[in-house]
Amino acid sequence: MTAFKPVVALIGRPNVGKSTLFNRLTKSRDAIVADMPGLTRDRHYGNARLGRREFIVIDTGGFEPDASSGIYREMAKQTRQAVAEADVVIFVVDARAGLSAQDHEIANYLRRLAKPCLLVANKAEGMREGAQLAEFYELGLGEVIPVSAAHGQGVRSMVEAALDQLIWPDDTSEADEAAEEAIRLAVAGRPNVGKSTLINAWLGEERLVAFDLPGTTRDAIRVPFEREGRRFELIDTAGLRRKGRVFEAVEKFSVVKTLQAIESAHVVLLLLDATQGVTDQDAHIAGYILDSGRSVVVAVNKWDAVDDYQREQLQRSIEVRLAFLKFAPLHFISARKRQGIQALWKSIARAYASAMVKMPTPVLTRLLQEAVAFQAPRKSGMFRPKLRYAHQGGQNPPVIVIHGNSLEHVGDAYRRYLEARFRKAFDLVGTPLRIEFKKQE
Ligand code: GDP
Ligand code: GDP
Repeated sequence: MTAFKPVVALIGRPNVGKSTLFNRLTKSRDAIVADMPGLTRDRHYGNARLGRREFIVIDTGGFEPDASSGIYREMAKQTRQAVAEADVVIFVVDARAGLSAQDHEIANYLRRLAKPCLLVANKAEGMREGAQLAEFYELGLGEVIPVSAAHGQGVRSMVEAALDQLIWPDDTSEADEAAEEAIRLAVAGRPNVGKSTLINAWLGEERLVAFDLPGTTRDAIRVPFEREGRRFELIDTAGLRRKGRVFEAVEKFSVVKTLQAIESAHVVLLLLDATQGVTDQDAHIAGYILDSGRSVVVAVNKWDAVDDYQREQLQRSIEVRLAFLKFAPLHFISARKRQGIQALWKSIARAYASAMVKMPTPVLTRLLQEAVAFQAPRKSGMFRPKLRYAHQGGQNPPVIVIHGNSLEHVGDAYRRYLEARFRKAFDLVGTPLRIEFKKQE
């Protein structure tokens, strides 16, 4: 691959020390540092280097609080843009001020996006690790890295940790078993969203193991290939035709073919077209994917062809129209310019791992009991549901079967509460999670 400079975005609420950090990384005076929230309003770009590794760093003005809440109002536009442009996000919190509601909102937003992300507690000079940083684990973003931007402490290892996130993990040990099976991937989307462009961009860089698999019909597309030591198989992607070594789109959109492709995949990559927004047809395809129970990764293509205003509209409409795919990682890419397309592999692999998760009965039961202890299900008339134990009832999608009494009285809100707890505990991303209740005989 040609020289590629990763992009690191610094985000966080105002006054946590992003500009100070930016200056330290770029060793420039470009970003204004002031003791006043919200002074640096625009995105700042700077070149930075750590040893031989060069990267681009973006500083943002941060989340501007807004009385009329809602994540999209509250999050400053440039922050979202910076996140979309970044390969890795460094989310800065203030170790001295502690957690705030805004931090939680940012964390929720970041968890939804499938970007590699590093949680950094700034102003940590002179602090002993442990107790003071413990609260930041609540954000559910994993390890908290203490730094002092003002004094330069911890900055180097922070950058190393950030850049290391871009390297494909070399986890041969536990992945051995799973690596046996190829991850079957279907790329779904309306005609013209850029499916063939993406696949050709991907495969153009691939050393194809073999082009045809025995037993496939002439028209069927089944392309096995390897990526970073993992086996993938691109399965019959509806709406494409092979022409020699490249793929081209066919005019007609076939629902049946799309359904077949989705059904036979482990993971579906749903491609949207940034210039068209989320159309009804996109929503239908998304609905099929949800029904199928397959894992899903969403990528908005043609990101190069839209301006900041359109980008904002688009992110809103995804939030609203594809709300039911909240669990899916979201990427912004340009297949034509080959931007962001490599990062998709990591999400696809993660979505696959989530779909195939193994959840031992004792662990599930303990999590269930903790969830009930934290918040018991509501009484319904004379009945209070009793949730006793849980076991795994299936994979891809994972199913959790809960046993107990009066379970027919468990409400939807409580089911969602349980789902959220299980998801968090098993770090499930990109897969639906089904919860079934089984009455005690
Ligand atoms: P931004 O709004 O997130 O860009 O924050 P700034 O970089 O403007 O910093 C906000 C304030 O925090 C300034 O007064 C900085 O001097 C101070 N600050 C930044 N980094 C540190 C640090 O590591 N330790 C301490 N104690 N203060 C810091
Ligand atoms: P398919 O029908 O989903 O396979 O879509 P194609 O790959 O044939 O792409 C449809 C059109 O969109 C073609 O004219 C592509 O050149 C164009 N296109 C694909 N990807 C991008 C992109 O990332 N940016 C822009 N601006 N155009 C793109």
